[in-house]
Amino acid sequence: MVDISTKEAYLRMLERVMAEVKTVTGKSGDRVLELRPTIMQTAKHTIITNFRHLAETLNRDPQHLARFIFKESGKAGVLEGERLTIQGKLSNDEIRRLLEIYLKEFVKCPVCGGIDTKIEAEKRFRFLQCDICGAKSSIRKI
Ligand SMILES: [Zn+2]
Repeated sequence: MVDISTKEAYLRMLERVMAEVKTVTGKSGDRVLELRPTIMQTAKHTIITNFRHLAETLNRDPQHLARFIFKESGKAGVLEGERLTIQGKLSNDEIRRLLEIYLKEFVKCPVCGGIDTKIEAEKRFRFLQCDICGAKSSIRKI
């Protein structure tokens, strides 16, 4: 014999869980990335203390993201553990802008706008391969 009240409580709980899962994942194409760099300024350096986490959020190799920032800002630096130390000054706005450019150029599919992509190498060419729409777009090598 099934205990109705328990079964109802179970179904209600299941419904709640399903609703929560739905709001968290949404449709893969609509997934929005929130990049929140934590930035520390010293006299000679700019340090992004959660750099590796940012790269993970973008699903990219931290070395690739670091090379991009060095190249775009014209500054040198070093990736150590979680943090990226940049020689010289970069304002919070400049860092946010660089992350936006990286997201647009190396993460977001230009065809469908999805962010479930990966970088593929073919000889000396680099491509952005989209897992959602299957588009393959050429990108520059960093
Ligand atoms: Zn796509």
